[in-house]
Amino acid sequence: MQNTALVALDRSHLIHPVVNFRAHEKRGVTILESGHGAYLRDKQGNELLDAFSGLWCVNTGYGQESIIRAATEQMTRLPYATGYFHFGSEPAIRLAAQMIELTPASLQHIYFTLGGSDAIDTAIRYIIHHSNSLGLPQKKHFISLERGYHGSSLMGSGLTAIPSFHLNFDVPTANQHYIASPYPYRNPVGHDAGAVIQGSTDALRAKVQQLGADNVAAFFCEPIQGSGGVIVPPAGWLKAMSRTCRELGILFVVDEVITGFGRTGPLFACEAEGVEPDLMTVAKGLTAGYAPMGAVLMSDAVYNVIADSSPDSPVGHGQTYSAHPVSAAIGLEALRLYHEGGLLANGQAVAPHFEQGLRDLMQHPLVGDARSKGLLGALELVADKASKRRFDPSLKLSERIAEIAYRHKLIFRAFGDNALGFAPALCYTDAELNLLFERLKAILDEVL
Ligand code: PLP
Repeated sequence: MQNTALVALDRSHLIHPVVNFRAHEKRGVTILESGHGAYLRDKQGNELLDAFSGLWCVNTGYGQESIIRAATEQMTRLPYATGYFHFGSEPAIRLAAQMIELTPASLQHIYFTLGGSDAIDTAIRYIIHHSNSLGLPQKKHFISLERGYHGSSLMGSGLTAIPSFHLNFDVPTANQHYIASPYPYRNPVGHDAGAVIQGSTDALRAKVQQLGADNVAAFFCEPIQGSGGVIVPPAGWLKAMSRTCRELGILFVVDEVITGFGRTGPLFACEAEGVEPDLMTVAKGLTAGYAPMGAVLMSDAVYNVIADSSPDSPVGHGQTYSAHPVSAAIGLEALRLYHEGGLLANGQAVAPHFEQGLRDLMQHPLVGDARSKGLLGALELVADKASKRRFDPSLKLSERIAEIAYRHKLIFRAFGDNALGFAPALCYTDAELNLLFERLKAILDEVL
């Protein structure tokens, strides 16, 4: 079918996630047709350098033959196996065992979901079950960070603290509470690591004290806030938050949906700080975007409380496609590529070049802040560097930048408040990073 016909059909019928519906009708869709390595080709024949790994998920790059083979073999042998009623499949069990092996030692059990939002929702449901099973029915309040993103399920969007995800949706927030994002660039204490960390632990303590420790079930956080604008807290922050949760007697839940699978250097961000969470959520890089899958991991302590709670009744939580065997086969191959396939090592090798490239752009008159960890980074654009004044929202700068970027054949994410997010695939070469920065510089110069 011709591009114009498809664009018209899209405009009439397909609802896209997280767009202004009317603006999308006006702009029309860019139809992506194929991908290879770090590149995507659209239906109009443009070859675009993808500096965002799809939606920070295609960590392996596109067109990985061995993933395609693993999926095809599994689909041919057994395209579906229910996990209900004590059935299962070999790839799901093997992936479960490998994930337990590769994640922090505190995590001994895993439940597979269809993506990140239902991983968060599943974690919340299990935590509520856990509180009830402990005989603590009042322990149901949740704390997360301002600017945090934890998906858009009804409960998870309550943990998400980005205003557009609440607007007009009547998100149930009675049990949801927020503390300030560490956000060094705009933190009144600046980049002083000790003060930023102290500010967050003090805020968590104060919030728990205000609500009553017996009423708070858990604190959720991303090790680096992604959709909030790639906010990179100082080293030691995650460890300090985890220690504070332990002191306060609340569960510590790490959302590694973006930061997992080599995105920040090690396989998981928790590893870098030796953090042992009570629960952890993952998705995206688990299957590198080749099929939908996410997961919730939990400690023995949490699992056993739920397991021993109601001997005669099932734990009523499940989805038809949980632990889907094709997704699991893809996940196993993606894990092999990260390790034996050398992707993790390559990501670590090129990350300094990526981080330096972002830092170099601090010279640009538009760039107020450059922040990164591994292959996850952002530039924050400001109207005035000295005062850090933001651009007037009526300028719709992010939309303009996205348009210019398309003309320069570079894909990244322009956030509403003018942070530009980057998450190149772990297969990137130095030459591809050079091209990324060449195009990015040209884009910024055109915005000026
Ligand atoms: N948690 C985090 C940290 C995310 O970044 C996302 C998605 O970007 C989610 C949860 C939700 O995942 P999904 O979009 O797969 O539902």
